[in-house]
Amino acid sequence: MKIRVFVVSGPSGVGKDSLIRKVLDKLDNIYYSVSATTRSIRPGEKNGCDYYFLSSGEFQQKISSGEFLEWKEVFGCMYGTLKSEVEKARRAGKDILLELDVKGALDVKEKIPEAILIFIMPPVLKELEERLRKRGDIKERDLEERLSLAPLEIEVGKADFDYIIVNDSFEIAACELEKVLRRGDEE
Ligand code: 5GP
Repeated sequence: MKIRVFVVSGPSGVGKDSLIRKVLDKLDNIYYSVSATTRSIRPGEKNGCDYYFLSSGEFQQKISSGEFLEWKEVFGCMYGTLKSEVEKARRAGKDILLELDVKGALDVKEKIPEAILIFIMPPVLKELEERLRKRGDIKERDLEERLSLAPLEIEVGKADFDYIIVNDSFEIAACELEKVLRRGDEE
């Protein structure tokens, strides 16, 4: 069965998680792909729900056995989309939504050309810093790294993504995301 693949990307701190959570609550025909990562678990996160938290050894093992659709090193940690997540969506007859960095998104587009890429854009760059600081658990070096990558990510988003949603008003951005995910329904 053919399912639609949506990929949501955007710079760290742009509010992707909250937007996705809000919209997916309303759409039960879309399966959220849980990625694997070697980064440490943050307060409030759940293994198997936010990510599959793996050791570097476990992650490498999965690379060797070809279990990833794509994987990338992002901010010094490994992140990857498991083929088994796509299989789960397919078996459930649902579309799938992946939340990936921009390189991962382009990788998926290469492998699945009909994948729909959605970029979440900050209204102003300064806001990313404020949002990241609000998370509270972020180290200064990590924050600087995430912020320094944002301009390049935005360039890629503008050039290569199918949809760009500016997360200025959260409610409006959530509506736009919902519209894009529903538009797929009618095709
Ligand atoms: P965070 O550590 O803030 O949860 O995520 C850091 C970055 O990794 C974000 O840009 C997020 O979209 C990206 N990311 C999460 N999962 C994956 C994945 O499976 N593959 C790739 N390429 N990037 C991912």
